Amino acid sequence: MNDYAGKTALVTGATSGIGRETATKLAAAGAHVIVSGRDLQRGESTVAAIRDAGGRADFVAGDLSDADSVRHLAARALELAGGRIDVLVNNAGIFPFGPTAETQESDIDAVAAVNIKAPFLLVAALAPGMASRGNGAIVNVTTMVASFGMSGMALYGSSKAALQLLTKAWAAEFGPSGVRVNAVSPGPTRTEGTAAMGEGLDQLAATTPAGRPGQAADVADAIVFLTSDAAQNIHGAVLPVDGGRIAV
Ligand code: NAP
Repeated sequence: MNDYAGKTALVTGATSGIGRETATKLAAAGAHVIVSGRDLQRGESTVAAIRDAGGRADFVAGDLSDADSVRHLAARALELAGGRIDVLVNNAGIFPFGPTAETQESDIDAVAAVNIKAPFLLVAALAPGMASRGNGAIVNVTTMVASFGMSGMALYGSSKAALQLLTKAWAAEFGPSGVRVNAVSPGPTRTEGTAAMGEGLDQLAATTPAGRPGQAADVADAIVFLTSDAAQNIHGAVLPVDGGRIAV
């Protein structure tokens, strides 16, 4: 079954990790995917892999820490998608960890811009179009540490907690117009972005019932599910893909 034929999807942070897996899976299911990120080479290689597999994709470069660049991304994505984006995945995120007292003001601004402001501007730009058509799906990528306190994760966790609340607020705002807004909340997941954590990722994952880090594809599968018709009565949910960490 091909749920996504004729549909278009914008995936932020699709040049790496969870976002690239999500873009690849949505394209394999038939969507025309707009791949976004800053890195031209990784963006083009993601698009080339999707096209080689018979899918449809285009790359739009954008720096989500810059509001004008976010607005340009939304406009260019709409242009490439023939005026309609059916699926938005707010996946791009940055995760600097560290003690609160050592956190630089520039880190606070960067995390707020990429993890909160950019999704906000993209939803503001794209959800009204979905609502006017009576159909659309948005998935925000948060984190398990949006749900409980962990030392060193105050800045990152609080930014994703904001995104988690936005998920519910947008479900309330756009749900009545047929736009479903949900979130996935990953636990420790092996990606390019977490490679630098080395054994720290395994140690974090050892605290979960699963006992090991997840794969980007695990999270991507959950995202694709939430954007699909199989999730048609799911609004405002936060689906943990965390090896069970917030359950125990
Ligand atoms: P990743 O491998 O580091 O990929 C991050 C993506 O975000 C890249 O495609 C990057 O693209 C993009 N990005 C970062 N800053 C950007 C900016 N200023 N402008 C535009 N794009 C930007 O990360 P990941 O592990 O797949 O994580 C993806 C999401 O899952 C993030 O929101 C993260 O917080 C969340 N998450 C991950 C884990 C985990 O263990 N991996 C756990 C919980 C939550 P460019 O480099 O091309 O700009």
